[in-house]
Amino acid sequence: ELADRRALLLEINKQAAKYFYCKLRTPGGADAMAYLKRRGLSDETIRMFGLGYSDKYNNDLYQFLKKKGYSDELLKDSGLFNVDERHGMYDKFWNRVIYPIMDVNNRVIGFGGRVMGDAKPKYLNSPETKIFDKSRNLYGLNAARTSRRRNLIICEGYMDVISMHQAGFTNAVASLGTALTSQQAGLLKRYTDEVLIIYDSDEAGVRAALRAIPMLRSVGLATKVVNLRPHKDPDEFIQKEGMEAFEERLERAENSFLFEVRILQGNYDLTDPQGRTDFFHEVAGKLLKFEDEIERNSYLEAVARLYHIQADMLEKLVNKLALKGVGLAEQ
Ligand code: ATP
Ligand code: MN
Ligand code: MN
Ligand code: MN
Repeated sequence: ELADRRALLLEINKQAAKYFYCKLRTPGGADAMAYLKRRGLSDETIRMFGLGYSDKYNNDLYQFLKKKGYSDELLKDSGLFNVDERHGMYDKFWNRVIYPIMDVNNRVIGFGGRVMGDAKPKYLNSPETKIFDKSRNLYGLNAARTSRRRNLIICEGYMDVISMHQAGFTNAVASLGTALTSQQAGLLKRYTDEVLIIYDSDEAGVRAALRAIPMLRSVGLATKVVNLRPHKDPDEFIQKEGMEAFEERLERAENSFLFEVRILQGNYDLTDPQGRTDFFHEVAGKLLKFEDEIERNSYLEAVARLYHIQADMLEKLVNKLALKGVGLAEQ
């Protein structure tokens, strides 16, 4: 029963994706097509990602699917419609560029829609449904899983994934506008051993990276962080600087532990003796978490070099904290 229902919802999504896809190619979709072209997307890219357009009629998708015989009850569950007492059911996506969201098996599980101007909200996404669990899917993974590149790139947005793919970085995925979940980290681990985090270079992006790092680490993924400054996201970087410059940034990605330490350093004044003391205590606490001795020592030496402290001094501090941890240190 439930399986049947899920199959029907997938069918509805597929029909809707086709509908949007065709609309983009009608005269009514000309502005949307021009918008995508203005953002630098080729016909091939638009086709590959199945991009579409939801037009200015407020229930044409609903009518289209009704004619195919789907019940209101099922259509409600699809998340493609809003329901209110006065107007009944009407299309959720109105005058937006449509990004179908696919699972790893290329099944359409939901949609994102972007306004073409500055209206708010900029993006609308399908709600969670019986077939769309945002925390367990990654946008673009259906394409990235077969990429020849040796790692996966995690970024914030639809356009970032699409721009990177178009520029040959076919290993890019996005976490659908939410914080990276442990299920998504697990999903990444199925396809790679190394992840490059390439979030927007604003404060929100840095915070999101700091939350994602332990998540990725805990499933055993090696993690690095890419710096896009002065540009704001991968899409913008590629538009402005091109793919060679982008590749260079990927190569120069920062080890995620050293990234964490660098951000931490922003909270302390290292020219002040107290600031230095507190900072190195906090870093020693983080070093302590590495169980592998070689690993811990490598990081310790890297920190010592970068922040101009003697390695054996830092090591003593770590050892002291270790003893404290097991209750052996004397005050
Ligand atoms: P663009 O380049 O088209 O302006 P972006 O991807 O750079 O878009 P951001 O504001 O950086 O946009 O947001 C990153 C991602 O977060 C988006 O791609 C989208 O998935 C999600 N998102 C952004 N704004 C919203 C919103 N208002 N509601 C839901 N999700 C959103
Ligand atoms: Mn952002
Ligand atoms: Mn952007
Ligand atoms: Mn962005």
